[in-house]
Amino acid sequence: MEKPNLSPQEVQRLYASFDAPITALDCGRKCAPYNEGGKPFCCDICVAVPTLYEFEWDYVRKNTDLWFEWKAENCTDTPEEAAEEVARLSEETPDSMMLAECLGPSLCQRDFRGLTCRQFPFFPYIDSQGNLLGLSYYWEYEEQCWVVSNLAVVTEEYKRQFLAAFETIFELVPGEFENYQYHSEVMRDAFNEQRRAIPLLHRNGYAYKISTHNERMRRVPVESLPKFGPYKLAAEMPFPDEEV
Ligand code: SF4
Repeated sequence: MEKPNLSPQEVQRLYASFDAPITALDCGRKCAPYNEGGKPFCCDICVAVPTLYEFEWDYVRKNTDLWFEWKAENCTDTPEEAAEEVARLSEETPDSMMLAECLGPSLCQRDFRGLTCRQFPFFPYIDSQGNLLGLSYYWEYEEQCWVVSNLAVVTEEYKRQFLAAFETIFELVPGEFENYQYHSEVMRDAFNEQRRAIPLLHRNGYAYKISTHNERMRRVPVESLPKFGPYKLAAEMPFPDEEV
């Protein structure tokens, strides 16, 4: 398949139009205390390895010193293990993307964050009929990401920008719609096995649970969506803001 090739102006416009924070508060302060290294999980390159489209890579390398190729050296004990890890993850990464690492949260240049940083922990959920319904999340981070356990805090502006950005990406980057449709199907299979409903922040502004059997949607209060890991325990404490 032909690799997508966005011009620097198109990348700049995409970044500028998808810049809203997920929540009104700094969610990194909520999750970082639970990460051994003290960084927000999504800014820890050993937990969530960022990927950049090649056109983003070209753009950021010309405009900032924030990004490097991911070498895994800081996430493994030996150079051999690092090489193995890079090979393993490269295999799972689409041809049009690169594994990357950045200077870290204390030196982040927000204007040059990649799309994967901006979208985390969400991906565009697409049903089996090909309808882009809204936002669901990368479920492998349920135990780590505070936002996943607190979906009520996601702002309307963030959701609007997220969906507009992905509509643009789907127009400009061939194959991405199908990739996310496939990823949505993988989520349906995984949740079906666990007998769980899929949580969805629908583009109509409401929250839903989606049955994995027939894809029927049931509207629910967003506050009723499940919490996980330490955030579940914290919510059960008499003073829910306490850390566990
Ligand atoms: S998006 Fe999730 S993992 Fe990233 S800083 Fe916010 S709470 Fe932490």
